[in-house]
Amino acid sequence: MNVLISGASVAGPALAYWLRRHGFTVTVVERAAQLRDGGYAVDFRGEALDVLDRMGLLEEVCALDTHMGDAALMDGEGEQYATLPAVIFAGDLEILKGDLTRLLHEATRDDVEYVFGDSIAALEQDDTGVHVTFVHGEPRTFDLVVGADGLHSHTRALAFGPEERFIRHLGIYTAIFSLDNYLGLQNTGQLYSVPGLAANIFSARDNTEARAALHFASDPLDYDRRDVAQQRRIVAERFAGEGWQVPRLLWEAARAQDFYFDANAQVEMDRWSTGRVVLLGDAGYCSAPTSGRGTSQALIGAYVLAGELAAAGGEHTAAFEAYEREMRGYVTEHQQAGREGAERFFMGTPTQEMLDMIAANTPEKARAQVVGLGDYRPAAHLGRPGAV
Ligand SMILES: Cc1cc2nc3c(=O)[nH]c(=O)nc-3n(C[C@H](O)[C@H](O)[C@H](O)COP(=O)(O)OP(=O)(O)OC[C@H]3O[C@@H](n4cnc5c(N)ncnc54)[C@H](O)[C@@H]3O)c2cc1C
Repeated sequence: MNVLISGASVAGPALAYWLRRHGFTVTVVERAAQLRDGGYAVDFRGEALDVLDRMGLLEEVCALDTHMGDAALMDGEGEQYATLPAVIFAGDLEILKGDLTRLLHEATRDDVEYVFGDSIAALEQDDTGVHVTFVHGEPRTFDLVVGADGLHSHTRALAFGPEERFIRHLGIYTAIFSLDNYLGLQNTGQLYSVPGLAANIFSARDNTEARAALHFASDPLDYDRRDVAQQRRIVAERFAGEGWQVPRLLWEAARAQDFYFDANAQVEMDRWSTGRVVLLGDAGYCSAPTSGRGTSQALIGAYVLAGELAAAGGEHTAAFEAYEREMRGYVTEHQQAGREGAERFFMGTPTQEMLDMIAANTPEKARAQVVGLGDYRPAAHLGRPGAV
């Protein structure tokens, strides 16, 4: 079977990996001209580590661990008043998202067709397949199309309808950018927070660089998602007059090449598939950065979707139903965690006692539902050495 995947970040290449292992033919189309080196760190929790292990990638991912330690909570005068335990923000294992994307691409590029700098323009499906028109490339027909193109998924818009129907805004906007590690942070970070605003800076890449984030509370804003200058202005206005390192961070934000800005939002859908089109990762069930589970969901979703397609012998209707059955409870729980995380995001000046309590109750510790990862064992001859 020929499968087209839209999006080459985490979910897309992870699915490509497993589909190839099960004998499917895979094309991945990515809108960006090259792999995106998205600067922020993402973490893995629980079963996602098992999936990495089954892919034979756990060792390589561990080698890229940020080894982030506890961080300092700072007041406006630059004095530390509490310590934020690393488990709250770095999970079981944390790496830069760009490193993860590169690893997944390297694990698949030899036997998966990657098309960069293009995007699906239109989809039409019938009993024979999905007829896809591209913005640049020639039209092609695939047996299945998978939308792994993130929170603002274009595949979802084409197959299910406009984004507004599925997005739940969590009332937080975030800007992220790279900068010099001018504070000399050593595997740690500093955070500043007042009601409605939060800022932080963390060391990155063995302390040779840093990443900063500026978050503010807001109802949905009307702005142009392609107008970076406008987004920088919005952030600068919100943080004007703030203490700690904020003036320097605004100066850096105005110059950063990789300035990123978006709302924290979730995707809520009754169904993740329609006919031969199915959604994966943030495109179908984004749980928002405040859940800390998006990467794990993308990896586990890819493993389950490919496994169910193989188990059903390519019978997509049965496979998509089984995929949804397996994943729904897990996603629901993470989305709940994402909403709770958003509610306590701007808690002003938390006490150490409160922070220690949150660390002791991180969702995976309190989690009732554990995803039982099925053993979707693929044909051995397609496997990478060291993987299942
Ligand atoms: C600021 C921030 C911090 C985060 N921190 C964490 C964390 O600590 N832990 C964690 O687990 N998760 C975290 N996440 C979430 C995590 O990054 C996502 O959940 C995860 O990357 C989902 O992967 P994905 O592949 O589904 O989507 P994405 O990573 O969003 O990738 C979508 C891909 O599709 C491509 N694309 C978009 N439109 C098109 C199109 N029309 N055609 C073709 N390609 C297209 C994009 O260029 C991109 O490559 C964070 C997210 C953000 C924004």
